Amino acid sequence: MTIIVQKYGGTSVANPDKILAAAGRAIRASQEGHQVVMVVSAMGKNTDMLVELARQINQRPSARELDMLLSTGEQVSAALMAMAIDSLGHRAVSLTGSQIGIQTDSTHTKARIISISTKRIEQLLSEGQIVIAAGFQGIDENYDITTLGRGGSDTTAVALAAVLGAVRCEIYTDVDGIYTTDPNILSSAQRMPQVSYDEMLELASLGAGVMHSRSIEFAKKYAVPIQVRSSLVDGPGTLIRKIPADLSKAVCGAVLAEDEALVTLAGVPDIPGSSSEIFSQIASQKITVDMIIQNVGKKGQTGLSFTVPRDELEMTLGVIEQVRGTLQIKKVSHSTDVSKVSVVGSGMAYQPGVAKKMFRSISDADINVLMITTSQIKISVLVRRSDAPRALEAVHQTFELDTPVENGSSNPVEPPPPRAEEERADVVDRLRGMEDLVIDDISLDTDQSRITLERVPDQPGIAALVFERVASAGIVVDMIVQSHLDQDGLANISFTIPRADLVACQDLCQQIAEQLPCQGISNSPQAAKLSVSGIGLRSHTGVARRMFQALGSGGINVELTNTSEARVNVIVAAEQGDLALSVVKAAFADITAR
Ligand code: ADP
Ligand code: ASP
Ligand code: MG
Repeated sequence: MTIIVQKYGGTSVANPDKILAAAGRAIRASQEGHQVVMVVSAMGKNTDMLVELARQINQRPSARELDMLLSTGEQVSAALMAMAIDSLGHRAVSLTGSQIGIQTDSTHTKARIISISTKRIEQLLSEGQIVIAAGFQGIDENYDITTLGRGGSDTTAVALAAVLGAVRCEIYTDVDGIYTTDPNILSSAQRMPQVSYDEMLELASLGAGVMHSRSIEFAKKYAVPIQVRSSLVDGPGTLIRKIPADLSKAVCGAVLAEDEALVTLAGVPDIPGSSSEIFSQIASQKITVDMIIQNVGKKGQTGLSFTVPRDELEMTLGVIEQVRGTLQIKKVSHSTDVSKVSVVGSGMAYQPGVAKKMFRSISDADINVLMITTSQIKISVLVRRSDAPRALEAVHQTFELDTPVENGSSNPVEPPPPRAEEERADVVDRLRGMEDLVIDDISLDTDQSRITLERVPDQPGIAALVFERVASAGIVVDMIVQSHLDQDGLANISFTIPRADLVACQDLCQQIAEQLPCQGISNSPQAAKLSVSGIGLRSHTGVARRMFQALGSGGINVELTNTSEARVNVIVAAEQGDLALSVVKAAFADITAR
């Protein structure tokens, strides 16, 4: 008999009628011959209500007690669901995270799953019962209740599907699939019939709240097909699965992360190890840093900017305060008036001019870009909060995400095929903990050059102009980083190109510089790109930490950095490339050796 996991989000269990409807759906799947495991979230906005209740009593409740409190929301739903199934004449048992044996680490409010014991669930399923698991929760080695982070029931569901070898994990929610962007923000968004793990992981990690990004890490590692569907209307929904990248399409989706915070450190001593220390400390608090920009050093000092989710700003500033004295950081500033707009697509690495197209569309909407970072699979820009919805709309339209996707609603996709055992990544068997980091490769490309246009006017259209000119000369740009130099209304634009194009690009930049104006061009003709690739690299905050620590203690200066869920890249001087490769390989040896 095949196992199916069905997960019901908060809106799908918000009241007795919805609980009964979900119960009916699970019973139907059981009658079709499947063994059914349900994962339920807290009813409606119950979790928000509990958080608010806690804050009314204590402004800074301890993470342990928050977990104790929040886990009750899912328990209520699970028990009610079992009662609903019973009332419809079928047998069901509800289980908490600890009853299932979802063992996690002790990072309260953001715990990661170490293992899940399947024995009890399998026993109950074989007795013909529907098993209902309370989502979002686990238990640590001290038997303390932990939670997996907001939205974490998706992760419970996919993790259960993985360990039980389910044929698929169905996610029932209040939208009928994954859209090209949040349909509640942009009504022109289109449903995607299917999306690859890599693209979905990046979309979720950049802020598409429809799926918990860690659930996609599980899905990719364990090859679990996910079907996202509406709990209200029947339809094919969206399949998230392993599919070859559609190289004909540069961009598959756009994301708006409204609540970002920008932190800028000025006057940081430009010595190897400074940024390592800062990011290590931040990562140790499990704070996910996204757009990291280190300005090219001047007079022994450098500037460092990065973004963190707004609700983690306070914690981030606390960490910086602790290292500020030791590292002699002159000035720390921050802004919460910023939002991040990103486009994602596996095909963008194979199509020239995607970046310039994005920058042009934003500049045509008369919006100034504060920061830019890119990776193989995404481009993110930071803009003022008030400009962000218009920026999202502009890029969504430019990349024709508002035109119905082929194979759309009138032509449903085949249901996912049964999961082939051999498709399960063999690396999984070597993991000590289920959510452990996977590193596939650590490599070095020594044929790169970096160019920086220094102190260009920070106004709409500058990035579009630079990258249109570079693209029209047939030069393929890899990494792009634009920083905003706070005080002066100026920006630095850095990018990497193949070394063979350096001379041509240098001449071109000279012309651009005269036109802009720009206060100077610097370059690093002999640059090397060190890449670490795997799964979930940004959300496992330990990756950046290990990398920076290793490079810092090897005395290696990092010129540029970019991160995505699939890859972390750093640019270093080519002469230090081999050393960088060996120290980073050594830093990850315990993982790659498994
Ligand atoms: P649940 O409670 O079922 O887990 P969530 O609120 O977590 O539901 O996720 C569903 C919501 O995700 C939708 O209502 C939608 O507003 C939002 N969303 C964000 N990005 C997307 C997207 N790309 N496609 C579909 N929905 C999205
Ligand atoms: N109830 C939790 C939350 O609201 C977990 C979830 O819904 O996935 O974040
Ligand atoms: Mg959710």
